[in-house]
Amino acid sequence: MTEKVVIAGAGHAAGQLVASLKQQKFAGQIVLVGDEPYLPYQRPPLSKKFLSGDMPVERLYVKPASFYDDPQIELRLETLITEIDRDSKTLKTDSGDITYDKLILALGSKVRRLAIEGADLDGVHYLRSIADVDGIHAELQHKKNAVIVGAGYIGLEVAAVIRQLGLAVTVVEMADRVMSRVVSPEISDFYQIEHTTQGVKLRLSTGIAAFRGEGRISAVETAEGELIPADFVVVGIGIVPNVELASDAGLTVEDGIVVNDQCQTSDPNIYAVGDCTTHPNSIYDRRLRLESVHNALEQAKTAVSNICSKETHYSQVPWFWSDQYDLKLQIAGLSTGYDDIVIRGNPADRSFACLYLKDSKLIATDAVNSPKEFVHSKTLIAARTVVDRDKLADTKVPLKELY
Ligand code: ADP
Repeated sequence: MTEKVVIAGAGHAAGQLVASLKQQKFAGQIVLVGDEPYLPYQRPPLSKKFLSGDMPVERLYVKPASFYDDPQIELRLETLITEIDRDSKTLKTDSGDITYDKLILALGSKVRRLAIEGADLDGVHYLRSIADVDGIHAELQHKKNAVIVGAGYIGLEVAAVIRQLGLAVTVVEMADRVMSRVVSPEISDFYQIEHTTQGVKLRLSTGIAAFRGEGRISAVETAEGELIPADFVVVGIGIVPNVELASDAGLTVEDGIVVNDQCQTSDPNIYAVGDCTTHPNSIYDRRLRLESVHNALEQAKTAVSNICSKETHYSQVPWFWSDQYDLKLQIAGLSTGYDDIVIRGNPADRSFACLYLKDSKLIATDAVNSPKEFVHSKTLIAARTVVDRDKLADTKVPLKELY
């Protein structure tokens, strides 16, 4: 019988793991170990309403402090895990050893850092934690010129918030269009027009050579040698999954910690969930490593069910979202490899969807201010049936009539 579950990492997924263990009436001991000083919290608002000041810190927490005030739960915050010893089923930390019966790795990811001259200057920020946003908030009090490096979700969400607070914002992006990792050129075009209309200066196909300044940043030097004045910089150039503890312990690791559809790693006593994992996805017939809150929470539920002896297999259509200005972008599925694209609605109405097909089946939808299109697309994608592209394009035909 499992008497003690240890959760490594105390982020969003970890909060769900504890909640699910309680829901499933797990009767043993739960130990939550993480290096941040906070209770498990949601990260998505960090670049949205928490950054803009429209959400107090308490609302970030997955559960209030009182939830963890339970003899069954031991919180070990500000604790750095240094090693997993699988032979003795022990986590080594900077404040002592913790034994486990079952271990769940919810280690998340870290920001990818720029290794260029001036990278350590004051005023260079990344965005991953509450502490990072506190640092950016301090800049917003007095500074006028912000430069954002990277036009992915993080970069564009930060650009939108900061621009709306009245700062001058320049976004520098290496690729030739925004959000190129996740959306089609059609959606990129729409967002580029939107940001430009809002007064954001977009510098596409532009690399960064250095950050310039004496002690504190004063300019960003592009690869072409141009200097863009900067009072501060926010870098959002992607994340790297935290896999080192797992690989050092000899677990199978590819681009993430390899888990099966029960969220179990190559060691049956160790589970893993969230950004740090790669899982087999039956809808896309391939392994996926996802940077997705939905994936982290659903994997957490799956891992707990299996630990509590209710065999459960993970099979979900991935989804993601991004808030920029008054635009809610909701992405269902993964568009990689599409061979046809259908636009439903009119971008000029600021409410439309881009539907991606492969072999005449829907594989993904990017919905802008179109929640119904998003919701029904998830079901259509999971159905994996051939769909009529003319009907998909016809806004008079509800998507729910197509499955
Ligand atoms: P995030 O979650 O941080 O937004 P994404 O992968 O969605 O991550 O977006 C990161 C963006 O940063 C991508 O559009 C990528 O092309 C861009 N990028 C990566 N490295 C650089 C760089 N050195 N300079 C400018 N842009 C970069």
